[in-house]
Amino acid sequence: MLVRRPTLAAAGSWGMPRWIAAVYVAMAAGLVAYLVSLIVRLGGTSAAIDGWLVAGFEVTAAALCLTRAITSPRTRKLALLLGAALLAWGLGDCVLTAEQMVSANVTTPSFADPLYLCFYPLLYTVLLMLIKQDGGRVLPGSWLDGAVAGFGVAALFATFLFGSIENSLGDTPAQLATNLAYPVGDLILLGLAVGGSAVLSGSTTLTWRVLAVACAINAVGDTFNLINATQASAVGLILDGVAWPTSILLISMSVWAQPRSKPVINRVQTTGFVLPGLGALLGLIVLFTGTLRHVGMAALALATATLVVAAVRFALSLRGMSSLTQERHRLSLTDELTGVGNRRMLSHVFDNFFSELAEPEATPRRLAFLFLDLDKFKEVNDSFGHSAGDALLRQLGPRLRSALRNEDVVVRLGGDELGIVLFNTDVQSATQIAERMLMSLGLPFIVEGVGVTISASVGVAMAPADAYESEELLRCADVAMYRAKLARTGVAIYQAELDDEGNRLRLAEELRTAVEERSLSLNFQPQVDLQTGSVIAAEALLRWVHPRLGTVPPLHFLPLAEELGLMMPLTVLVMDMAFEQCAAWHAAGNHVGVSVNVSASNLLDDRFLDNVRSALDKYQLTPSACILEITETTIIEDFQACKRVIEQLRSMGIAVSIDDFGAGFTSLAYLGSLAVSEVKLDRSFITGLAAEGRERDRELVRATIDRGHALGLRVVAEGIEDHGSLDMLASMGCDVAQGYYMGRPAPAVEVTRMLGAAQALAS
Ligand code: C2E
Ligand code: MG
Ligand code: MG
Repeated sequence: MLVRRPTLAAAGSWGMPRWIAAVYVAMAAGLVAYLVSLIVRLGGTSAAIDGWLVAGFEVTAAALCLTRAITSPRTRKLALLLGAALLAWGLGDCVLTAEQMVSANVTTPSFADPLYLCFYPLLYTVLLMLIKQDGGRVLPGSWLDGAVAGFGVAALFATFLFGSIENSLGDTPAQLATNLAYPVGDLILLGLAVGGSAVLSGSTTLTWRVLAVACAINAVGDTFNLINATQASAVGLILDGVAWPTSILLISMSVWAQPRSKPVINRVQTTGFVLPGLGALLGLIVLFTGTLRHVGMAALALATATLVVAAVRFALSLRGMSSLTQERHRLSLTDELTGVGNRRMLSHVFDNFFSELAEPEATPRRLAFLFLDLDKFKEVNDSFGHSAGDALLRQLGPRLRSALRNEDVVVRLGGDELGIVLFNTDVQSATQIAERMLMSLGLPFIVEGVGVTISASVGVAMAPADAYESEELLRCADVAMYRAKLARTGVAIYQAELDDEGNRLRLAEELRTAVEERSLSLNFQPQVDLQTGSVIAAEALLRWVHPRLGTVPPLHFLPLAEELGLMMPLTVLVMDMAFEQCAAWHAAGNHVGVSVNVSASNLLDDRFLDNVRSALDKYQLTPSACILEITETTIIEDFQACKRVIEQLRSMGIAVSIDDFGAGFTSLAYLGSLAVSEVKLDRSFITGLAAEGRERDRELVRATIDRGHALGLRVVAEGIEDHGSLDMLASMGCDVAQGYYMGRPAPAVEVTRMLGAAQALAS
């Protein structure tokens, strides 16, 4: 059973049981009584009261300390050391009283002196221990503050202490050493207490404060003891008599103060000005006094030391202040995580550039701003955890720097977005630098021991060509980056015709008209069976030949079509053209299939299945002649809804392929629960697969092929651009190949010619 003992733990300061508190109250009352007796007896001494009673008081104080050592493991060391110090003092008093009873004239050193002198090192140890423990993260300058305060106060006391003993230090070396040991011991104690208080400043604990006061009272007592030896006064005798027991009572009580729990945040500690200021002032006063009257060497030396340390501290403060200002400035412009510049730094750079540009006689200057965004960084975070994401971001700065010149500026705009400022450069070299940066990012990053490959998209905008102010320049580079991301081209240069909001509206209208007028066309890219070497299908890829802009790539206008709600009519048009072509090939004896890309909005549209069915019916195509490609990322966005539609498509006999597989970090096992027939490996894994340094990609591709087969899926590799990669994929067991190496996307007539040539070869 847990027994709650009554304790006195008011406001988290004292943690003593009630009976201990009662003993202390009794001792304090005894101390007052002793003070009264000192006043009444004035000058008279009694072995019973001043000897045994006081010694008993001290031994009791020591016993209470040792009780704390037994009951509280947290403060055990402190309580043991202080208990030992008090016990040594108390025993010293017992020995001295006994000696005085034997002989009226006890010679120095007496048997009590070694016991008394044990008190000092034990107390020093406690004070140093507390400074170390409570000091937290003390700045180097704080130790100097402590030294100024400690030396200053010690100088003042040395003036009184040594002034009175200089002429009575004793005849023998033992007497000299003993007589010197006490004032020196007191000086160090006082210096440590005051210096330590300055170092700890605002974070002193109750234990420390009580101990510091006890040390000060002890020093006062010792001073009067020495003064009394040469010129005794009533006040001196009373203070001398009462100071020691008071100090001992306080030391004993100090161990019962509640230890402070560890702070949640380890703050950097700075010292206050009061104690160091007081120390420096005392040093000055002692030195000044030394010019008017005799002041001991020790006091003068301590006062000089006070002022020397104060001067050093002042010089360091000045230097620290200037480097702190510089460091503050640097930090205010640095991104904490990556170490590259932050948005504020970018504002500085842009403000300087644009304000200079606005000056009437400014020399013409140019600047390129590159907006870089990592592709699929969210997936890295989700798959490996945020700390891995942070570790990757930290490696970005050095990577990018390796592709840049010294004067170029790299900043983190937030998340996985970075900005790069290139001075005095043109679009061509900015694009080259952007490509160099992307190449440097292409090598794997080691994150928590695993190699992670990432890619990025960069938008390039020029000032003043594209923008006359920073916000606008950022926006231009941002929209270009967005286009690069959609088109997966890596780098895109800002083009007002494509990116400008006004032009976009115009383009949207033109797209709507193009869909209505069916003035879009298809290219077909052959897909080759890797076992037989024959073309078994072709992927239909949409093309928009714009009267003003030339060929606009699908990934540039498809988002626009989504925004305008044009995706359904667009896909109906593509299916119509693709199925018509497929039926024509079939009629000519080429039994190739056709792949059509469909978007998420298509799949989730209620009319979709009917539209597919009627397009097939229109050209009397069997469902098995058509494959619908859905990108992996589309499926992940609304998995359950996609799963239902895919099942319905299968029941209609239409095969579904997972396009761009691998770009979304989803596991094949997860997608295996879908009723799909084919998986198309993303071209970022395939292009250049046979090249050096692609071992990880090769492993991944091999594993995906194996796992795909295990799930009964056909595996297609797209983006094959060289013979080596084709060979490698064939040896890995990949089923179908698609890529520039076998044939670029081309108008139907060219593919028909290709099929005809193959047919002729076969017959
Ligand atoms: P996708 O379905 O992954 O199509 C393959 C893309 O890779 C095509 O780009 C093709 O030209 C390109 N490609 C093929 N072989 C290689 C190669 O060896 N190396 C390289 N570097 N690239 C190769 P394209 O035609 O620009 O189409 C891009 C994307 O636009 C397509 O990616 C598809 O997601 C989408 N798309 C195209 N047509 C349609 C469409 O009719 N409807 C829908 N919804 N999306 C379409
Ligand atoms: Mg595709
Ligand atoms: Mg693809």
